Amino acid sequence: MIPFLDLKSINLRQREAFHAAFDRVLDSGWLILGKETETFEREFAQYCGARHAVGVANGLEALHLVLRAWGIGPGDEVLVPSNTYIATWLAVTYTGAKPVPVEPDEGTYNIDPARVAAAITPRTRAIVAVHLYGQTAQMESLMALARRHGLKVLEDAAQAHGARINGRRAGSLGDAAGFSFYPGKNLGALGDAGAVTTNDDALADQLRVLRNYGSRLKYHNEIIGYNSRLDELQSAFLREKLPLLDADNAHRAEIAAYYNRELKGIEGLILPAVASGCDPVWHLYVIRHHQRDRVANALAQASIGTMIHYPIPPHAQPAYRSLEIPVGAMPIAERIHEQVLSLPIGPTMSVADADTVVRALRAAI
Ligand SMILES: *Cc1c(COP(=O)(O)O)cnc(C)c1O
Repeated sequence: MIPFLDLKSINLRQREAFHAAFDRVLDSGWLILGKETETFEREFAQYCGARHAVGVANGLEALHLVLRAWGIGPGDEVLVPSNTYIATWLAVTYTGAKPVPVEPDEGTYNIDPARVAAAITPRTRAIVAVHLYGQTAQMESLMALARRHGLKVLEDAAQAHGARINGRRAGSLGDAAGFSFYPGKNLGALGDAGAVTTNDDALADQLRVLRNYGSRLKYHNEIIGYNSRLDELQSAFLREKLPLLDADNAHRAEIAAYYNRELKGIEGLILPAVASGCDPVWHLYVIRHHQRDRVANALAQASIGTMIHYPIPPHAQPAYRSLEIPVGAMPIAERIHEQVLSLPIGPTMSVADADTVVRALRAAI
């Protein structure tokens, strides 16, 4: 039995450290917006190579609050990938702006800068660049394009903690970045958590007000804010996990390299492509096959867990019927969603297990 991701074994590695972190918070008597969160924010900002990190409730809120802080709202358009997790689109929708899907590069699955350029209208205010599956988007092209058109670029770095492009880390590449610490992410809390990173002092300040009821001083409310805070306990757990992130990512890269080597040349199987200069963190190892469901079933028969990221693109979800984007309008995203399959990968998975996956996959195809 090879699970898709063995979260339990990942977290059990640090049982004692988590217990000590829990005691630290309990003994402090302080549970929201205190020293643990402040310290984690400093440590995570430094890790990403950004000036600021602001802890928030989850990854979706990280994206939403940045768009809010930029004053994006009704009548505005925000360019988003057609093949992302729905949270990217929801963050835009919450502001009242319209998510406008742009098709990806079919090799890397990341948003295609040439298609982004073609989608810009006078209403466009921002681009959300998702670093999908753990590989950074083409940030240099996107930033250059954004500067020419006066647009903001928000990184959706929920799958890319530690990913690099030309040596620079996700979270330091755009005008701001939203991170999720959902348990299954490369850096995951023991519950929901998120953060924004940015080099913009004024934005960081605004986010600290927005996440806390629009308040700087208790019971004084400057603006209509939210309750979207990262709590002390999750911050303390994240502080214990952050020092393991690079080694965990390196282990994922080792599994990915094994898959790359052993699965190369199998007829009909498309392996993930890495763009030049990119150092992905392999949040997911995603293959494609035109008989995806048959392959997934064969792996399930061999007790190997797989997942599909994602089975239905956002524009085809009932939730987004009102956008009236017809099926067939996003052919690349639709094809990707029909063919992708995520293989097991994670920091506690052994190369021997990866070999079992490879054998089962060879037998299935
Ligand atoms: C997980 C994820 C999010 C949302 O993060 P939550 O913490 O679950 O709200 C946003 N975008 C992408 C690409 C994600 O994978």
